[in-house]
Amino acid sequence: MRQTQMFIPTQREVPSSAESLSHRLMLRSGMIKQLAAGIYTYLPITKLVLNNIEQIVREEMSAIGGAEVLMPVMHPKELWEESGRWEKYGSELMRMKDRHDRDFALGPTHEEVIVSLVRDELKSYKKLPLTLYQIQTKFRDELRPRFGLLRGREFIMKDAYSFHVDEESLRKTYQDMYQAYTNIFTRVGLDFRAVEADSGAIGGSHTHEFMALSEIGEDTIAYTENSDYAANIEKAECLKPTEFSTVEKKEVEKIETPGVASCQALADLIGIDLKETTKTMVVKIDGELVMIVIRGDHELNDIKVKKYFDAQNDVEFAEEEEILEIFNAHPGSLGPINSPVKVYIDYQIEAMRNYPVGANIDGYHYKNVNESDFPVEGTGDFRFITEGEVAPDGSGPVKFREGIEVGQVFELGTTYSETMGLTVLDKNGRSTPVLMGCYGIGISRTLSAIIEKYHDENGIIWPKSVTPFDIHIISMNSKKDEIVEVAESLYTELEKSYKVLYDDRDERAGVKFADSDLIGIPVRVVVGRGASDGIVEVKFRNSEEKHEIKLEELNSFIE
Ligand code: ATP
Ligand code: MG
Ligand code: MG
Ligand code: MG
Repeated sequence: MRQTQMFIPTQREVPSSAESLSHRLMLRSGMIKQLAAGIYTYLPITKLVLNNIEQIVREEMSAIGGAEVLMPVMHPKELWEESGRWEKYGSELMRMKDRHDRDFALGPTHEEVIVSLVRDELKSYKKLPLTLYQIQTKFRDELRPRFGLLRGREFIMKDAYSFHVDEESLRKTYQDMYQAYTNIFTRVGLDFRAVEADSGAIGGSHTHEFMALSEIGEDTIAYTENSDYAANIEKAECLKPTEFSTVEKKEVEKIETPGVASCQALADLIGIDLKETTKTMVVKIDGELVMIVIRGDHELNDIKVKKYFDAQNDVEFAEEEEILEIFNAHPGSLGPINSPVKVYIDYQIEAMRNYPVGANIDGYHYKNVNESDFPVEGTGDFRFITEGEVAPDGSGPVKFREGIEVGQVFELGTTYSETMGLTVLDKNGRSTPVLMGCYGIGISRTLSAIIEKYHDENGIIWPKSVTPFDIHIISMNSKKDEIVEVAESLYTELEKSYKVLYDDRDERAGVKFADSDLIGIPVRVVVGRGASDGIVEVKFRNSEEKHEIKLEELNSFIE
């Protein structure tokens, strides 16, 4: 590809609002252009890299028997009402009306659509198992779109769905997916961990998140080097309660347990249904330990409420009419809690700045919390995992790292098949709800995660597996015939076996080199003064060294 025919609007200055490294680098290297908050155009370089990532994903999906489909972006409201998520999904769901005033959602995920697709076709267990996937733009009205493609409101996802007649078959596909994800993230060059995760609002029973280790990550994970143990820190805390069984439920008048609890055990303790809970944690506020429960809707996660409400008494939302509106619209989202704990709804955004907690809420994670900040009284069943302690499985010191969630696999079970009537006849001719799994990969987020890892101060350094081009030819002077001639014929020659970007622009050498560093193609071939003697300069993007190479030896040198 000739650079004069590409569109690579590199920039020297980027807005300070671009907070993450990958966001800044993508702007500087002319890869993306923002249209609105969290909404971007993918420019040619980005598109090439996305294609490469998608290719790897397609190969791994088809290796485990996944068949590709492409489902609609517009979903009729009625379908989402069947699953109950038209209400539940909250304001992250982008909604629109057609000219007849009919409601639609712009798909944030496709469980509803895929169930409606297969329930008409799958009548017998003989058609199972089945795995379908798609690669498509998803829409989520994130409250805090940020970090460029890491958290967009429009983003590309690979989502797969599997259907089974029994647990064993679901387990097998889950394992296959887990392995396929491992292959995918290895092939694109990420440093990642598969961690045990909370199933959260999606209602799954068994789930892993694939976390790319990175400073910018919005989640914190705990893991050990010596074993497979790795968990999202919320879950890690859950694994820590020492002896829950000794605690009688009736004794728990107020949660006086230190630490953070986003887990089944604490939920059981106070009698709340975790399925309806988005986040649960204990924090210390004004010297008092308070449990924060965020129930139901996704959106509650992101609402700033400065007042608390007491589950047993009055709701105080005086300043927050907007919130009241939401609660009125979703009456089920805040049911009574069977113990007199104070419940703070998203107080954490304010509170957690001021008080130490060990939890991670999307975008707000706190670590190095001091256990002594939470004096253990009475029950004392929760404790912190601290960095360096020997761990949950006894295998070695626990490490904490930030992670970017690049993918997630879920055993959904029958959640959707039951509510939406997806059944098959089993071997004995009995009608049985189909077991499902769902599996997502953030394709555009993965691209950003790759840049977060592969770069230096001058720009991106693409790993070979996803690079937009293999070789960058730079002609030093587009006015000198002998240089242009050599560059042109080299371009024609190399194009036969490589993906080549040829900088044929009429620009100063300094500009070309700076852009070339930014764009980050692994091999750079400079055609300059030596051209008439048949010599070019080769430099690899990941090293400073320059090599003078004879044209006839070029191929074997860069191989
Ligand atoms: P997060 O916790 O970051 O909000 P999620 O758990 O809501 O992500 P899933 O529903 O599991 O996301 O979707 C599957 C994958 O889609 C995620 O693992 C992530 O890689 C990607 N993804 C989710 N939300 C976004 C977003 N706003 N922008 C880019 N990628 C996203
Ligand atoms: Mg999300
Ligand atoms: Mg998540
Ligand atoms: Mg997820």
